[in-house]
Amino acid sequence: MRVGRNCWRAFLLFCHKLMRKLWPKGQPKGANMSGKLLLIILDGVPLRNFTRLFGNLEGWVEAGVAQRFVHRAPLPSISASCYATIHSGLPPQVHGCTGNGNVFHLGVPDIFSQARQAGKVTGAVAHSFWSTFFNRAPFDVVRDIEYDEPDSASINHGRFHTMTGYGADNQMTPCDLDLFASLTNLCARFDLDYGLLHTCTLDSMGHRFFHESQQMDHACFVMDEMLAPFIPRWQKMGYEVIVTADHGQDDRGHHGGRGDLQQLTALYYFGPAKGPAQDSEIAQIQLAPTILSRLGAPIADGMQGEVFLRD
Ligand SMILES: [Zn+2]
Repeated sequence: MRVGRNCWRAFLLFCHKLMRKLWPKGQPKGANMSGKLLLIILDGVPLRNFTRLFGNLEGWVEAGVAQRFVHRAPLPSISASCYATIHSGLPPQVHGCTGNGNVFHLGVPDIFSQARQAGKVTGAVAHSFWSTFFNRAPFDVVRDIEYDEPDSASINHGRFHTMTGYGADNQMTPCDLDLFASLTNLCARFDLDYGLLHTCTLDSMGHRFFHESQQMDHACFVMDEMLAPFIPRWQKMGYEVIVTADHGQDDRGHHGGRGDLQQLTALYYFGPAKGPAQDSEIAQIQLAPTILSRLGAPIADGMQGEVFLRD
C-alpha cells in the first residue's frame, strides 16, 4: 500500500514536470530572468550588524557582485508578523498577525501559492510558523516536521523545526550549516524553483547577549562564513539569491516597536536584475511581488508593494 502510494506520487511528479516543460505558465520571462530564486532570512539582524560584521556579503557588494538595499520592517516589528508580511506582501494590519502568540493559517495568496499557480516547485527549510501560516494549521509536529507533497497548492517540500522550549539559556536552534545543506539538498533532489530558508540563531543571540558583545561579533562572523560558500554554489545551480532579515534589534536586543534599530535591516541581492541605488530603502511589502516577478509567477491583487528589481 505504501509502495503503491509512493509510486503514484512519483508518477504525478513526473507528469507535473513534463507539463511544466511543455506548457510553462506565469508571466513571460525577461531576458535575464532565471525563474529560480532562494530567499534566505537570517532572523533579527540589524542593518548595522550586516554592514559591520558580514565580511563576505559586504565584500561581494564592494566587488559589484551583489546589490545592497535597506529593508524596513513594518509595525509591529515582531517576527511572526514580519514572516506573514514578507510572504504575503500585506501589512500586519491587513493580514491580521499581531505577533508570535497569534499564528494561524493566513488563507491569503502568498509567494508559495502564487508560485504554485505558475507551476513552480516550492520548498522551505524554516521555523514551523512558516508551515502554519502558508500551508496548514495547527502544526502537527510528526506529520509536518518534514513533508514532500508534489501536488500541494503551497509548499511542496518542507523541512521544519519548532524551537519548542526556546529561552535565553537554551536557544533550541538547529546548526545553520545543517539548514543551508538541507536547502541545497532539496534544490538538487527536487529541482526547486523557489526555496525559503529561515533561521533564528542570530535573533536568539541578540536577545541573550545584545549587540555590543564578543558573542554577537562572533555569531555574525560564523554565520557569514557558514553561508558564504553556498551562495556561489546556489548561483551555479541557476538561482538568484536574496539574503535579508525579518527585522532588526535595538541595543537591548529588543524589537516589535518603532525605530531604525528595530525596523531596519539589509537586503543583499545576487542576480542579473537591477535595483534602485545602493542603500535605497525597500518596504517589506515589496518583497513578495518582487520575488514573484523574478520567478515569472503572477502577483496577487492584494500585493500593493512596488517591484524593486527589474531586468
Ligand atoms: Zn524575527
